[in-house]
Amino acid sequence: MEAQCLQQITREGGLAASQVSAQTQHRIGELGFVRKLSGKRLTGQFIRPVQGFYNRCLVQRNDVSVQQQGLPAQLQLWGRQLGFSQIGVAPVDLSHAEPGLLAWLAAGHHGSMDYMQRHGLVRARPTELVPGSLSIITARMDYLPRRSTGDAPIARGNDVEAESAALINDMSALLAHESQRLHQPTEAVVSVYARGRDYHKVMRQRLQQLAQQLQAEVGPMGHRVFTDSAPVLEAELAVQSGLGWRGKHTLVLQRDAGSFFFLGEIFLDMALPQSEPVSDHCGSCHACISACPTQAILAPYQLDARRCISYLTIEHDGPIPLPLRPLMGNRIYGCDDCQLVCPWNKFAVRSSLPDFDERHGLGSAKLVQLMQWDEAMFLRMTEGSAIRRIGHVRWLRNLAVALGNALRAQPALSADESQALRKAASMWLTHDSEVVRECVAWALEDESTR
Ligand code: SF4
Ligand code: SF4
Repeated sequence: MEAQCLQQITREGGLAASQVSAQTQHRIGELGFVRKLSGKRLTGQFIRPVQGFYNRCLVQRNDVSVQQQGLPAQLQLWGRQLGFSQIGVAPVDLSHAEPGLLAWLAAGHHGSMDYMQRHGLVRARPTELVPGSLSIITARMDYLPRRSTGDAPIARGNDVEAESAALINDMSALLAHESQRLHQPTEAVVSVYARGRDYHKVMRQRLQQLAQQLQAEVGPMGHRVFTDSAPVLEAELAVQSGLGWRGKHTLVLQRDAGSFFFLGEIFLDMALPQSEPVSDHCGSCHACISACPTQAILAPYQLDARRCISYLTIEHDGPIPLPLRPLMGNRIYGCDDCQLVCPWNKFAVRSSLPDFDERHGLGSAKLVQLMQWDEAMFLRMTEGSAIRRIGHVRWLRNLAVALGNALRAQPALSADESQALRKAASMWLTHDSEVVRECVAWALEDESTR
């Protein structure tokens, strides 16, 4: 599932985050050896000379002489140059998160994400995923596009305060625009993080570059890069390393950046000084819980993925449960509602990278327009995008549900709008997939037969 997505949901363990793809390569670190110092917080130097196989490479570690004080700052600097907003260092001991993860799985809140069950506690045990890991570099990357459809022109002068106020107003306008689209039934709303280039590619490439820069400084080291690509408790690592606190919606958020950011990690076979966690600033707010259209946030920090629209539109295979369909509105890929209402997102920051700029008008797309994409068109238009992963069948299924909601909308659509929607849906009444056929038939049901 999705960016920190999650909304990138799917968030794990009532513990956030997004899509976790199955690891298809050989199990990393199986040949590996490295010293294990689990549970111990290291505040000083790197581990002294180490030799061993790590990720199938012979690693010869020389005595490391990097300044303890200088390296964290250097990592931040390199991170910024690579487009990251913040870098942290997390410990490898997440045993405190195990009970929560087990309870979440036991309650079945992971839905049909069987891989979550299969991976079990590996998710909370980084050293089982990558034996020999001693610390984990965490990174976050803001993903709001540099400009988006709803932006008004902003006048900015040299006055820092005025500029900062303009940026806040600018963000408020963006959030308002996104919220407003949810009330326009013929719009096709794609979660903001998914409108540009696939973040997996962007993040992985840049994390790899960061690791290479570190290696150039400290000498050979074993490392492994992840971004939503393995059983990793990303949000928990982010929290432990001070990238933010866990919001009641289970995503990580930050006072200066809100929650619209991706997370990624570099597992290392060396111990780096750990960065300090930050305090929680949710206070008595519960806006995200109240705003969730499907009541997927059962209580603060408890997410039932089976009800979450991010899960339903991205991770879930098969038909969408009937009682949830009307609650999904016009959200066809992911859901941003719990973030749109979060007061801290007034301080969200736009990406500095062009990668997350909207593609193919996905920030203002209409249901009729997207429903007309056949599979070839879908593949073409989603090339290099995270959306492609769900395939054309789920794409049509999601559109059909949104289209059915539009046809049921009150006040009713105009006759022309209604006719255009019906025509677009009817194209798929004989689709090979039973799921698509059923959802389209549901969308086109007459009032009398509902
Ligand atoms: S608002 Fe609810 S449905 Fe939407 S992403 Fe948040 S938890 Fe999921
Ligand atoms: S909406 Fe309120 S409760 Fe939810 S994450 Fe934001 S600050 Fe916390």
